[in-house]
Amino acid sequence: MAYEHFLRGGAFIGGQWSQAEDRTEFPVVNPATGEEIARVANCGRQETAQAIGAAVRAQREWSALPAKKRAGVLRAWHDLLIANQEPLARLLTAEQGKPLAEARGEIAYGASYIEWFAEEAKRINGDVIPAPSGDKRAICLKQPVGVVACITPWNFPNAMLARKIAPALAAGCAVVCKPANETPLSAFALAALAEDAGVPAGVISVLCGRTEEIGRELTSSKSVRKLTFTGSTAVGKKLMSDCAGSVKRMSMELGGNAPFIVFDDADIDAAVTGLMASKFRNAGQTCVCANRILVQDGVYDEFSSKLVRAVQNLKVGDGMEDGVGVGPLISEKAVEKVSGLIEDACEKGAKVLYAGASASGPCFVNPTVLEDVSADMRVFTDEIFGPVAPLARFATEDEAIRIANDTDYGLASYVYTRDMARIWRIGESLEYGMVGVNEGIISNEAAPFGGVKESGFGREGSKYGLDDYLELKYMCIGGIDK
Ligand code: NAP
Repeated sequence: MAYEHFLRGGAFIGGQWSQAEDRTEFPVVNPATGEEIARVANCGRQETAQAIGAAVRAQREWSALPAKKRAGVLRAWHDLLIANQEPLARLLTAEQGKPLAEARGEIAYGASYIEWFAEEAKRINGDVIPAPSGDKRAICLKQPVGVVACITPWNFPNAMLARKIAPALAAGCAVVCKPANETPLSAFALAALAEDAGVPAGVISVLCGRTEEIGRELTSSKSVRKLTFTGSTAVGKKLMSDCAGSVKRMSMELGGNAPFIVFDDADIDAAVTGLMASKFRNAGQTCVCANRILVQDGVYDEFSSKLVRAVQNLKVGDGMEDGVGVGPLISEKAVEKVSGLIEDACEKGAKVLYAGASASGPCFVNPTVLEDVSADMRVFTDEIFGPVAPLARFATEDEAIRIANDTDYGLASYVYTRDMARIWRIGESLEYGMVGVNEGIISNEAAPFGGVKESGFGREGSKYGLDDYLELKYMCIGGIDK
């Protein structure tokens, strides 16, 4: 089936595909070619209020369904995603730009969270607590938090949303989703398949358009009881303050600045392979991308020359073409930002060790390796979000830990070493939510994904992932003694 089957304009509100009240639309553009792929309803306050109203109504029946029934619907949704993996992947590459092989991987990855939470839905167990006095019994129930607003970025248009909707629905919540305006089509496809799988009208709504208006309505509504956000730390902070007025539950999956530390005793070939996967996947546009590559003096020359050879083999181009390993960045604005970071580093003394050939088009950036990078450069302090690998040397373990933790972020970190004692020491010392040891790809549905410090709070996936969508209710039953 061609991906055009999944092209939807409009917005999906309360089980209906609809237009914005004022009939305005905006284009979705393929970043590799500049072609317009679709036009989407330019929604705002009014449509968001409709979606919230539909979610409030749908939530009651959805949460009243037996967990096994909700699990069955989620499982059917998962199966439809897998059955349609190829057209969904092509749609994703068309709107986002990543290589098709990665897009296929993202569809499977997003679906794995739906499968996982279909299984977890049946295990939302409460507790019976031994009461301190004999005439009472104490019980703890777990109940859905209520209507959830989900706001997601463009870098994983399928998986970031699947990772939120799946636990919300498993817990018995209804959702109103605002995907990124650059990549709404994969979100609409998810909603269309959810409808086919039997998710009742109103349980999932998806709309985008006038971002600030939608955000204000979602954050100020007293009917929305939780906001789950994945995106930049700056927008996350604004949304946190906007949610304060209605004291909402929140989960924040924000930006990162991952250190990638290679010790003298590491398997250097494995470290280069791990770095290539962590750094250049999605053209460097992932929140867990290696951002600062710290290499110990004794292996610096070997590591940097092997890295340059690997980067030379990267083919840059339209993600639909065979063999392409690096697609375009999401927009020209993103290219300007990344080019600015390279210029800033070079002005302050960094050297370009390698700058590969780029494909033609305004959204492409050459894969680049920089060396002699230092903490006063923006490539070191900012999230790069592009195919740029900055290298710096270190001498001791303490120095590596100090540099690695010298950031406001705390999402992913990576370390390559064969010393087991060091693995423990450094694993415990890194101020990060996730540590990859001798591994560059760490995320999967069974593990808790999330950050500390200004990378946010809350965890997605794993046995902990449902907690963010559940309230604990304590019931004290008295008068038990006769
Ligand atoms: P972004 O600019 O923060 O946008 C994320 C989402 O928030 C988009 O849907 C955006 O809508 C929306 N948004 C922006 N301003 C808003 C407002 N005032 N009210 C309501 N919604 C608002 O981030 P991005 O550039 O799309 O994504 C890249 C960032 O996401 C990076 O920092 C990356 O590290 C982070 N990220 C984190 C994780 C994680 O799990 N920790 C995973 C992936 C990405 P528009 O598209 O309409 O602007």
